[in-house]
Amino acid sequence: MSIKPILHSYSESHTHFVGDGFRVSNYIPGANDYNQETNPFIMLDYNEPYHFPPSKHRRGVGEHPHRGFETVTIVYEGELEHRDSSGGGGIISKGDVQWMTAASGVLHEEFQTQHIADNGGTQHAVQLWVNLPAKDKMSAPKYQSITDAQIAKHPIDNNGSVVRVIAGNYKDTQGPASTFSPIELYDVRLNKDANVELSFPPVNNTMLVVTKGSVTVNGTEVVNHKGFVLFKNEGEIITIKANEDSFVLVMSGAPINEPIARYGPFVMNTREELMQAVEDFNSGKFGKI
Ligand code: MN
Repeated sequence: MSIKPILHSYSESHTHFVGDGFRVSNYIPGANDYNQETNPFIMLDYNEPYHFPPSKHRRGVGEHPHRGFETVTIVYEGELEHRDSSGGGGIISKGDVQWMTAASGVLHEEFQTQHIADNGGTQHAVQLWVNLPAKDKMSAPKYQSITDAQIAKHPIDNNGSVVRVIAGNYKDTQGPASTFSPIELYDVRLNKDANVELSFPPVNNTMLVVTKGSVTVNGTEVVNHKGFVLFKNEGEIITIKANEDSFVLVMSGAPINEPIARYGPFVMNTREELMQAVEDFNSGKFGKI
């Protein structure tokens, strides 16, 4: 077993708003225009902790479509409310994860809760898009509401450090999310000076983003809050040591070796399929919320 070398390590300082409720930095495809290097992870927006004052309306993103992939929303702090045309919906609270399979198509809306609108509050979240293999892109939409309590927690020490396994498995701990291709998704929470060793197949596309604190990766690379690391497709082992209390979101997946065609909220394999998605959306085939 050898160390998985770092291909690229950088920090993203630019932020932009998605709708009026998500102040994010974009890492995938990002300024580096990642495509197959990160597949099956095809979009990563990180909303660092940001305080919203009270407002008369709920902030967020109104009705919009998706087809061909899954949206995974991880809430560290704050409260989001979601509704979609497949009948899925609910409130995603601190520690919860929403795994929405858009597949053949959904319309949905993503808003902060009325409680946040009334009282203000800090929002801290990630939205990750997970690609679907061609054979599953037109399957039925699905919704997995994964609460904090349902997320598998593998203790690292006796001090509260933990690997929260959202998907895949860490050692003997299996995450609750069902996925269409092999995916490991860990929310690693380490107290200062805690160490963790993770292992992934060399072939996997593997990356991480630091969502709190500062860590040292593979013994040498200091990665601070908002730092992102993409690993090479070789070696198995990643080590993470916390320089202070830290959160690290670790993503690893078997590459989906198929073409990626993207247009806004649609991610398919060909341009023709994108045109079909636009036509289906315009003719109302995505249903109603
Ligand atoms: Mn969306």
